[in-house]
Amino acid sequence: KRILITGGTGFIGRVLCQELLGRGYELTVFSRQTPEDVLATCGRVEATRDLNQLRSHPGFDAVINLAGEGIADKRWSEQRKRQLRDSRIGVTEVLVDVIRSWETLPDVLVSGSAVGFYGDQGASVVTEETSPHDEFTHRLCRDWENAALALNGQKVRICLSRTGVVAGPGGGFLARMVPPFRLGLGGRLGSGQQFMPWVHRQDVVGALIWMLENEEAAGPYNVVSPEPVTNAEFTRCLGRVLHRPTLFPAPAPVLRVALGEMARLLLTGQQAIPAKLTGQGFQFRYPELEPALSNCVQ
Ligand code: NDP
Repeated sequence: KRILITGGTGFIGRVLCQELLGRGYELTVFSRQTPEDVLATCGRVEATRDLNQLRSHPGFDAVINLAGEGIADKRWSEQRKRQLRDSRIGVTEVLVDVIRSWETLPDVLVSGSAVGFYGDQGASVVTEETSPHDEFTHRLCRDWENAALALNGQKVRICLSRTGVVAGPGGGFLARMVPPFRLGLGGRLGSGQQFMPWVHRQDVVGALIWMLENEEAAGPYNVVSPEPVTNAEFTRCLGRVLHRPTLFPAPAPVLRVALGEMARLLLTGQQAIPAKLTGQGFQFRYPELEPALSNCVQ
């Protein structure tokens, strides 16, 4: 079967590509990088630099859409917010338009979103049914999801991955967090009471493939581990795994001055649970934090 992937070179996408190639899928990756670089990152895939070149293509069996500028890479200036939107909503709009031009529509579109969809939820338990709190990340994820859902009515099954904070070796947020922790300079962020809906990268990849292959799967899914923890619990666990003390909290006002509005990513959160995934029988490889972190920081 043939799959078109956007964001295939990313922290999640590159592992997804390897897993899919191992299962015998044929992959085409949309990337701004050179075909050589895409091959080096993703393995034996075909690369395309312009989605429009796939107009009037005979069609792919499935599409996975993960492209997006890093939400935590730069302060959220108005210009940066536009880039965050264009790289998700803009790319998804073009993608949906290109899909509509195909002779045969795909069976399924698995499209990205994030737990930021819900905005700050304090200590409430968050399922796929929870009403969102209106803020920048909510509007970003809502519009990103709606751009994918525009294919509705075309007999394409649409799944949305409301992904949590992804922990994996060699990248993601842990790559920034671990160095100060290794130096013994780690600590909680603000009060530490905000929830971190973490998930191991292997389970994100597993859930995306489950959505792809499970014909009953549809709609939004919280792609988070079944055991969300507070930032304070996460901090203590990471300290244990690295055998380091975690005595240096980062005060909320300092983070707000340093990061501006983006500090909300660190100081607020969601006690999100994978209600639909577990309800529909998905099995997590890393349901618990300590084994997950040990695997990531070895
Ligand atoms: P990465 O930042 O590692 O990779 C981002 C991918 O998006 C790259 O493959 C890149 O492709 C592509 N991309 C970035 N900007 C653009 C652009 N302007 N136009 C087209 N493509 C672009 O992301 P992750 O793998 O970590 O995450 C994948 C998706 O999942 C992202 O959309 C992210 O928002 C979302 N997500 C990730 C979480 C995490 O913790 N990692 C948490 C929640 C959601 P290339 O450079 O090849 O063009």
